[in-house]
Amino acid sequence: MKQLILKPGREKSLARRHPWIFSGALARVQGDPGSGDIVAVRSNGGEFLAWAAYSPASQIRARVWSWDERERIGCDFLHARLLQAAAARERLLSAEVGDARRLVHGESDGLPGVIVDRYGDVVVLQLLSAGAERWRDELTECVRELTGCACVYERSDADVRELEGLPARSGVLHGALPTAGVQISEHGIRYGVDVVHGHKTGFYLDQRDNRKRVGELARDRDVLNCFCYTGGFTLNALAGGAKSVLSVDSSDGALALAQDNLRRNALDAGRAEWLEADVFKHLRTLRDQGKSFDLIVLDPPKFAPTAAFAEKAARGYKDINLLALKLLRSGGLLASFSCSGGVPADLFQKILAGAALDAGVQASIVGHFSAAADHPVLLSFPEGDYLKGLLLRCS
Ligand code: SAH
Repeated sequence: MKQLILKPGREKSLARRHPWIFSGALARVQGDPGSGDIVAVRSNGGEFLAWAAYSPASQIRARVWSWDERERIGCDFLHARLLQAAAARERLLSAEVGDARRLVHGESDGLPGVIVDRYGDVVVLQLLSAGAERWRDELTECVRELTGCACVYERSDADVRELEGLPARSGVLHGALPTAGVQISEHGIRYGVDVVHGHKTGFYLDQRDNRKRVGELARDRDVLNCFCYTGGFTLNALAGGAKSVLSVDSSDGALALAQDNLRRNALDAGRAEWLEADVFKHLRTLRDQGKSFDLIVLDPPKFAPTAAFAEKAARGYKDINLLALKLLRSGGLLASFSCSGGVPADLFQKILAGAALDAGVQASIVGHFSAAADHPVLLSFPEGDYLKGLLLRCS
């Protein structure tokens, strides 16, 4: 039998339903399991704790499939979990959110390492762990059957696969991508999504509600949207009646799609200005030019994937937030985000407090942001709580 025996006392986190087993917790590996194989996890005394997927290359040596000894991990199990995850979305998300959503959010949906995003009639599957990889064919078939989508596309090319000893892989798994490209509607705004080359699976679905909320705050304001990607916050601000929106990103591809997205919507393009630049540098240029804004969005990429990078990330967050706070007019708003798993919410707040102090401005928290409801966070898995944001008002 393939099984992992833990060191004495190391069953505690599993007993609290944390789904990862780290290499340092293992006393013995029995039965010579291969990458992605199902293993029984047992306490040092031999008590059954969980069924898990073995990942020999990773520090996260196994990820739990089920806590129930009677469960059989296989097609029926995967199908049931996928069905459950998709059904939960239908109850949580109203029709107005549109036709794009995350159907499966890895560990938090009981499917470690499995991401399934739906963009209209196209589903993107992302497999991030050895256990997920082991069931690639079955998951593809289940997703196809469950969604009835015309195309299932794989984007298993995230960096974390390296830690699992898995090569990057992407391409069509079923059907064909629409020749006219993938298009979605989110809260009534239309976007093209580049599922082949775009970030993550193509779009930042987690920011859906936050884009809408920021848009509602934009009326008659001069807005600066930093790290704009394909224009999500920009289009919401324009739809919300912003006086002007300056959008900055370092990627020409993202900016080209952002401008396409503006054309897809009946919004006055004269209010929008786009700039290809490094935000760290350009905030300084704006400061030197004496520019100011009523509403600033900072949604940078992940600076700290894990806690080990927190200090370096903190310097980056402090720098851009300090500069942004200085560019705000009195009474202005800053929507500041961090998607770094390694920077918890309390640390992020401290960083912003330090930035305000050094900028010499008085700021208050007038709102909190988190990921949308189709990105749930298991209470027993705080690592899943990566996206956080604060809405600050400068007095
Ligand atoms: N707010 C966006 C998502 C932002 S993703 C949305 O709602 O869709 C982060 C973006 O930051 C990416 O588009 C990336 O190209 C850009 N980026 C990364 N580093 C940058 C830098 N130093 N300066 C400007 N843009 C940067």
